[in-house]
Amino acid sequence: MQVIYRQRLEQVRNKLAEQKLPALIVFSRANVRYLTGFSGSAGVLVVGQDGWTWLVTDGRYKLQSKEQTKGTGVKISIARMTDKVLANILNRTKVKRVGFEGRYCTVAFLDRLKSELKGAKIRLESVTGIVEDFRAVKDEGELNFIRQAAQLADAAFEHALKVMRVGMTERELAWEIEAFLRTHGADAIAFAPIIVSGERTALPHGQPSDRKLQKGDLVIMDLGAMVNGYCSDLTRTVVIGRPKDEQQRIYKAVWEAQQRGIEALSANQKGKKVDSIVREVLDKHGFKKLFMHGTGHGVGLEIHESPSLGQRSKDVLKPNMVVTVEPGVYVPNFGGVRIEDLVLVTNGTPEVLTRSPNPPKILSV
Ligand code: ZN
Ligand code: ZN
Repeated sequence: MQVIYRQRLEQVRNKLAEQKLPALIVFSRANVRYLTGFSGSAGVLVVGQDGWTWLVTDGRYKLQSKEQTKGTGVKISIARMTDKVLANILNRTKVKRVGFEGRYCTVAFLDRLKSELKGAKIRLESVTGIVEDFRAVKDEGELNFIRQAAQLADAAFEHALKVMRVGMTERELAWEIEAFLRTHGADAIAFAPIIVSGERTALPHGQPSDRKLQKGDLVIMDLGAMVNGYCSDLTRTVVIGRPKDEQQRIYKAVWEAQQRGIEALSANQKGKKVDSIVREVLDKHGFKKLFMHGTGHGVGLEIHESPSLGQRSKDVLKPNMVVTVEPGVYVPNFGGVRIEDLVLVTNGTPEVLTRSPNPPKILSV
């Protein structure tokens, strides 16, 4: 494992050399974990272009940080005042320009760091995406964890189908899923399950409520597991009892859009293009403007990461990226449908990692 972290740190150093940045301060927890293996809740990493790496964390993680970063060449500093220690490291290493992850740093922390550095003539520059771009392409070890997380999500969905019944609340169903994931090998849930029913399915990201499931309801279940830090993401929409024509019509359009979206995933494809293809299918079925989120997102150490499949995306797909394809149609005061799978981009046909049944007609339970 240590070899992998050394390689990842080396990739970052090469990138820093390209950008003529002598050092990078990494604030994102997922990025710190990706580069060093350290999974604590507090820790800042400084990567120097010429070979040194410091991890600054606090006393709670003294043992853990040492164990997890063994053999990676990362030096550890246990500190109560992260800003002070960071300033010391930067002063000692005599770097003049330092990139920092502005997206993951508070204004308050930056102010304190700047005041600690006063007089040192070090220029701090906010940078984005340096580590995230590497994270977007998964290696075999990472894929292995994502596959396990996907299998667990499938098993949890199967469990949900078994236990769901009229009269049960959305919250109860959400808990069934959460408990299943936690007792079947997940280190955590990837996110709180989104369980909505009836008219509430028109809320793309509604929170489970005390509403009781009823006959004729659409039910959206969006869930994911975390295995060794890696997430999965799965959504299915089912109907309780016999589907109404309109429910079936919406479902069919979303299903078709999702199939076209999955087929469109290939190396060198633009994220924006995949979204356009999906959107066109829904427009054709008369659901223009009722799909108000992006088609998909990368999944890995974070549930939402690079690349993105949406109209504002500038990302280009590469083999071994893992993305979701999750079109939805949301009709106010009626209900909605979303179907989501986790998909591996390859040099050929994409591989759908979540394997829950995904029939062209809505599943009735
Ligand atoms: Zn989801
Ligand atoms: Zn998703």
